Amino acid sequence: MLFVVSGPSGCGKSTLVRRVIQEMDDVHFSVSHTTRKKRPTEEEGRDYYFIDGHKFQDMVRNGRMLEWAEVHGHFYGTSRGEVKKKSASGDVLLDIDVQGAAQVRERTKKTQFIFILPPRFQELKKRLEQRGEDDEETIARRLKTAQKEIRHYSDFDYIVINDKLEQAVFECKAVVTAARCRMPVRQKEILPVLASFS
Ligand code: 5GP
Repeated sequence: MLFVVSGPSGCGKSTLVRRVIQEMDDVHFSVSHTTRKKRPTEEEGRDYYFIDGHKFQDMVRNGRMLEWAEVHGHFYGTSRGEVKKKSASGDVLLDIDVQGAAQVRERTKKTQFIFILPPRFQELKKRLEQRGEDDEETIARRLKTAQKEIRHYSDFDYIVINDKLEQAVFECKAVVTAARCRMPVRQKEILPVLASFS
């Protein structure tokens, strides 16, 4: 099963996604391709596949992207190959923006969509400032984008308000657990139970 996690930057999406992957069995992170520069704390192939604009355009042209978008002046995309590879061994979590989420909604079935909200606008601003990754101008741009992004909340199946981190982690894990309990997903496990009754 695919899970899309979206929400404005600074809302704690990546932390939540990382915690779910660390703490649950058989959930994998879909590593995106991006044309953005690698940050000092990031690792090629773990956080992103860092590629140039030409390679990115080639992948789009060749239909290799399940979804892609321009976010804050850089290109980001989820390759079909990455999703296929990770799906082979379990569920897959995509940390993508709302434009990408809309494309995944059109192109896949049964995907679960989770939207992360910060508790308040001021808190988002504070988190972006404290993160220390972006200059003032970039933060202002991210906040402006956030104002537009949050309007899409109603397109999502689940809303997690990331106020207290532990509660938000719990809720994200609960979504994955609940999705795994859905009747059609359980078919394989149900059959032997039924067979044991006959
Ligand atoms: P950052 O540059 O801070 O890592 O990510 C910026 C934004 O790009 C975040 O909102 C993140 O969710 C989004 N993003 C990361 N990977 C992808 C992707 O593959 N597709 C799309 N559409 N957005 C992505």
